[in-house]
Amino acid sequence: MTTKKKIALVSGANKGIGFETVKQLANQGYFVYLGCRSKENGIDALHKIKMLGFQDIEILELDVTKPQTIENAVNEIKSKFRKLDVLINNAGILGEMPQNASDNTIENLKNIFDTNFFGAVQLSQRFLELLKKSDQPRIVNVSSDLGSLTQNSNPGYPFYEVKLLGYNSSKTALNAFTVMLSYEFKDTNFKINSINPGYTATDLNGNSGTQTAEQSAKIIVEYATLDDNGPTGRFISEYGITAW
Ligand code: NAP
Repeated sequence: MTTKKKIALVSGANKGIGFETVKQLANQGYFVYLGCRSKENGIDALHKIKMLGFQDIEILELDVTKPQTIENAVNEIKSKFRKLDVLINNAGILGEMPQNASDNTIENLKNIFDTNFFGAVQLSQRFLELLKKSDQPRIVNVSSDLGSLTQNSNPGYPFYEVKLLGYNSSKTALNAFTVMLSYEFKDTNFKINSINPGYTATDLNGNSGTQTAEQSAKIIVEYATLDDNGPTGRFISEYGITAW
């Protein structure tokens, strides 16, 4: 299909911050793929979104820990549009508790990294071919200030006591991916950034967050839609740069 629209894919978008990101991108005229690991949940989410009047959105079954679903997603977007403009690595899990450095099981650590780090890396790597076909390719890695080693070492940081070995270090690793990949693409039209959306009321934290998913999606969408002069290789929140 030939379209002037930009094409975006958001992983883990059937609820929470990802769902709001889909809405806001669609609102800006993007054709958006709503990634969901459960087709049933994806259909429900699509139904909700279409009831709000949004049109150019399709669900894509995508479990970032399952390479075959990634291959299917690449093939689907390739055959339909032959390019991808925006990839948002939003899918994430908190993992089982406890996650103290002294007792976080290796099984739990591996499970968290499978989604939050390896999932984002393999999704990005497989979509590079289609992103290279875009005039303005953008990758947004949805990270967290819990992944900031600077903040984890700062007793004045409001979440200093939240020391989740698995979750926090998976976001540190995701940030490393942002740094390495953006370095590799520094002389191209790619913009690749880590976004710290802020403490948001979603299922991930039993809806204890202080921001709405709608608020948090704004900064993600801002970096997904950067113009040619926008930054790359940054770790950003709505308040500006977050220390690595
Ligand atoms: P959420 O409501 O729990 O949504 C997480 C989404 O990720 C769900 O759609 C979930 O699908 C999906 N997902 C989980 N594992 C997946 C996999 N293997 N493959 C594909 N999708 C998968 O949480 P959220 O707060 O919106 O989180 C979105 C992102 O923001 C995460 O990366 C999270 O770490 C980050 N973040 C959140 C906060 C916060 O305060 N909420 C703060 C900083 C960063 P199912 O519905 O099938 O489980």
